[in-house]
This record gives sequence, C-alpha cells and structure tokens, in this order.
Amino acid sequence: MAVDSSPQAQPVNERFGKTIDFIEYMTKNTDPQQQKVLAEILAQNADTEYLQRCNLGGATDRDTFKSRVPVVTYEDLKAEIERIANGDRSPILCSYPISEFLTSSGTSAGERKLMPTIKEEMVRRQLLYSLLMAVMNLYVPDLDKGKGLYFLFIKAETTTPSGLVARPVLTSYYKSEQFKNRPFDPYNVYTSPDEAILCVDSFQSMYTQMLCGLLMREQVLRVGAVFASGLLRAIKFLQLNWKQLAHDISTGILNPKITDSAIQDRMANILKPNPNLAHFIINECEGENWERIIPRIWPNTKYLDVIVTGAMAQYIPLLDFYSGGLPQACTMYASSECYFGLNLKPMTKPSEVSYTIMPNMGYFEFIPHDPAKPVELSRNSPPRLVDLADVEVGKEYELVVSTYSGLCRYRVGDVLRVTGFHNSAPQFKFIRRKNVLLSIDSDKTDELELQKAVENASTLLREFDTAVVEFTSYGDTTSIPGHYVIYWELLVKDESNAPGADVLAKCCHVMEESLNSVYRQCRVADNSVGPLEIRVVRNGTFEELMDYAISRGASINQYKAPRCVSYTPIVELLDSRVLSAHFSPAPPQWTPERRV
Ligand code: AMP
Repeated sequence: MAVDSSPQAQPVNERFGKTIDFIEYMTKNTDPQQQKVLAEILAQNADTEYLQRCNLGGATDRDTFKSRVPVVTYEDLKAEIERIANGDRSPILCSYPISEFLTSSGTSAGERKLMPTIKEEMVRRQLLYSLLMAVMNLYVPDLDKGKGLYFLFIKAETTTPSGLVARPVLTSYYKSEQFKNRPFDPYNVYTSPDEAILCVDSFQSMYTQMLCGLLMREQVLRVGAVFASGLLRAIKFLQLNWKQLAHDISTGILNPKITDSAIQDRMANILKPNPNLAHFIINECEGENWERIIPRIWPNTKYLDVIVTGAMAQYIPLLDFYSGGLPQACTMYASSECYFGLNLKPMTKPSEVSYTIMPNMGYFEFIPHDPAKPVELSRNSPPRLVDLADVEVGKEYELVVSTYSGLCRYRVGDVLRVTGFHNSAPQFKFIRRKNVLLSIDSDKTDELELQKAVENASTLLREFDTAVVEFTSYGDTTSIPGHYVIYWELLVKDESNAPGADVLAKCCHVMEESLNSVYRQCRVADNSVGPLEIRVVRNGTFEELMDYAISRGASINQYKAPRCVSYTPIVELLDSRVLSAHFSPAPPQWTPERRV
C-alpha cells in the first residue's frame, strides 16, 4: 500500500496509481525537492529588484539564501506591492508578469492583503487539487458513482489603479479557464452548475446550488463547502427557504428572485415538476427537528468535505448535530500566498488531522515557536531557520514561505505543530493563526482592531459621562450566522444621565464600522456574520473574572483581563451578570473598493 497502511485504507485504484506514486516520490524526497524548488525560485527571480538588493550574486543555494535574505512580513513588502498595484511593470519581486492579486482574508491597515501571483501558480494549485481524490479514494471507494454537493462561491473583485484584478484565490480559480473548461471526471461531478457557482449574488448562487442539491439528492455522495461555517450557512439557508424551494420543485418553475439569465437558462434544463420530491422536502423540513437533516435529505452521503481545523473547530458540534456524526474530512491546507499541502488520512477525526506539506509547492522554513525564547529576526543578519525536512516531532513552528510568485521568506502567520512524518515529509497539526482574537467565518479580528473599535464606540458615551472600564469579547456560534459579542463594564457617573439603549445600539454600529473590510464584507455581502452585540455587565464583573482566574492559578501581579473568552464557565459567569444586551441596528458600510 502506498500512501497509508492503516486497516481501513483500500487498495490503490488503477486510475490513481500514478498520482499516489507521485505523492510517495515527493514525500520520500523532501529535502532534495526543497533544494530544487529554492534553486528554481532563485534562478527565475535572480534579476528582480528584490533579490538584487539582497546581493545573492546569482547564487541559488540554501546557505547564501539564508544568510542574505531577510525574513519579512506583509508590512515589509507593502511599498513594493503598492508599486506593482500602481502599474510598475518592472521585475520588482518576480521576473514573470504579475497576472493578478489574490486578496487574503488576513488584513493590513483594515484592508485585505494583496498577494501578487503569476499564471504558473494556477498550475501548481491545480496539481494539489488533483491529488485530493486519489487519497480520498483510498478510504472511500466508488465516489465516481455519484455527485458532490458543494456550496462554492465567488466574491466581488476589484481592479488596482493599474488594471490588475484583485480577488480571493478561490474566485480566481472558479473563474479560470482551467475550472470552467475542466474535462469531465466522474470522480469530480458536482450537483452545482457552474452558472450558479459563478454568480456573484450570494442569494441567487446559494438558492440555485441548494435547489440542485435537492433535485439530485439521491445521487449525492458527499456534502461540502470550503469551511465549516459555509456548510452551516447552507443549512440555515435551507431552514429559511425550504418552502419556496419545495414550491419550485413541485411546479417546475424557478423562483422569480433568480434573475441571473445564465442560471435561468441552465435551470430550464434541470428543473422539472416533481411533486413527490417536493412533498418529501416539506415533510422533512416543516417540523422543529433538524437533527440529522443532512443524511435525512441526502441519504447516501458518506462524509462531509469541509475544513474544521483551526478557527473552524468551533463548528464541529453543530455539524455533528446536523449530520448525525458523519465523518468530517479536512482535505487541504492552503492560503492566498501558497497552497501548502494535504491530509493523507482524510477520514481521521478533526482533532487528529495533520497536513503534509508538499515539498514541490514552495520553499518552506520554520521559526521555532517558543514564546519563552523568541527567535531574533534581524534584517541585517537573517536567522537560520529550520528546513522542512528538519523539523522535530512535538515542536511548534511558525510557517515561512518563499514562492515562485516572488515572496521570499514571508511569514504566513500560522503556527503548526509537528505530529509525525510520512516518509521524509513532516505532518503538521494546525494550531492557530497568530494574532487572531475573533473569527466567525473568514473574518479575522486582532486585539488592536478590537481595542480601536471599542475606543471609537466609547466616544459616543462621553456626553453621558460614561466610560468603558473593561471589556472582553466572545465569538458566539450557537446561532447561524455567528456573531461577535462584546462584554462591557461601564462606569456611569450620573445614573440619571446614563446612555440609553439607542446609544448602546449605535455603539455596536460604530464598532462594526471600525472593524476590517473582511469583517464588513462577511456582514454585508456574505451574511456570514450576524450583527455585533454589546452585553453590558454589572459593576464588579471583571473583578470576579480576575478572582476566578486567580483561583485557577493565574498570577495576581500579571493578571490582565482577557480580550477574548471561550472557556464555558467564564462565558457563563459573564452571561449571568448581564444587565442589558444591544445589537447593531444596521450593517456597516462595505464596497469591494478598498478604503484609502
Ligand atoms: P487566505 O489568505 O484568506 O487564503 O487564508 C489562508 C489561511 O487560512 C491560512 O494561512 C490558515 O490560517 C487558514 N487555513 C487554510 N487552510 C486551513 C486548514 N486546513 N485548517 C486551518 N486553517 C486553515
């Protein structure tokens, strides 16, 4: 057996033999592959302004690279990236023409980070996609006998001043010729028509994808979305729209709210009156009981294909509830900067998922992550970081990547722990993304952003002689979509002039306006985050929180109120002290254009 020899694995199917051999070859040659990738990147980009500045003198070896090229963050590259965005076509970071910008869900100054990319990277991404089914087939055979119900979406794109497109990496992929003209592959047949995936209106897209999923319900063998939050949003959508969906199925007439002509044309061939199916859907959806709704409607589902690692782990219980405990397969680990690798045991339970970084995707280095012994990252004498093949089991590292598109020693911001090796390729458990306090969907809010939002909102309290003395936050995912909860303890000098509910609702709104563009996009365009809530707690609550922490061993000298809580007893303590709750009355401003 190639990739894995665990008892549940199936023999390699002939169709996938070469792909499995490729994975084996790559993972047996981790270090030579990494040296090759680095040499290729450095040779390709030798004449760029960036590498010229590093004085590599044309060298393509690891030692010269590590001693001359600094380890950088996005902020370090911002000037170069802005020049590219503004139309400078000289080889700044990459010698190949920049084809577009990929907009990361990570932000800088409140806006999505712009990652320059080149055409060739699409091929590399596609290569990683092509490995996934070969591995899955080892565990779940016969996936060519049915379809995948995947909720896939594109997002709005913008153009930079020089006319380069800026959009999320998946939008770029779904809009590519490679995706649109993909050859028929019985292992990758989706229920969603491309016209629905490619519709930028999220309601029309979701509606059509759900409708097709219902129409083809018996053929569905796997149900998925990119992230767990997306799949839960689809279930919520079904809860809200099943009556209309059943009506369309019963009559064979498409909901008039679907105005996209490409979808209308395509659905004309797919939607036919089917009163029996409509009756079945009404029967399943009209009751209060939504437990196991996924296998009830899609009885042949073998697994959920959805990322539940990292920030998405909070959704596992809800997915279990709706799926009756179907396996949750996390297949891939990727980012706008680079696609990293895949899970070679996709049916393992979420808490044990490890990703194998493929050594052909980019050049990877690792900063040992030990808060007690931070690594000195001086620009003048760059550090010697750990190579992919040399990481040690049990240790945590921060991922650093160099790519063909011109990122050199770029800190991705992810912290990973080594859990073992597949051949000579290490396997990593995703631990967390650095500096993320709150995340419901693709939004990522850090401590500074939250602090700033609280400061902005609390200016509204001044005229009431009131101040926020302490605050903390909580990502509430008990309802769909989840939302941010901010607990405020207030100091009200004059109770007769205390801020009223309308003022506190306005504070919620100001906080939302202050948060980054990914948060606002989730609120406005994707509806994947609900209105922000402020819960005012009674005086002394944060002292109680401190007493609680100290009783559990925190040092009284070093104690600081946590800016985010998730531990159930603490959330319960806060909730038991709530005096009033207030919600943002309107969505914040968001347009695809970047704020200047
Ligand atoms: P983006 O730059 O918006 O494409 O987001 C990429 C980031 O999403 C990564 O750097 C990770 O922090 C996170 N991510 C991607 N794949 C996974 C995964 N399989 N498990 C956990 N987090 C992931």
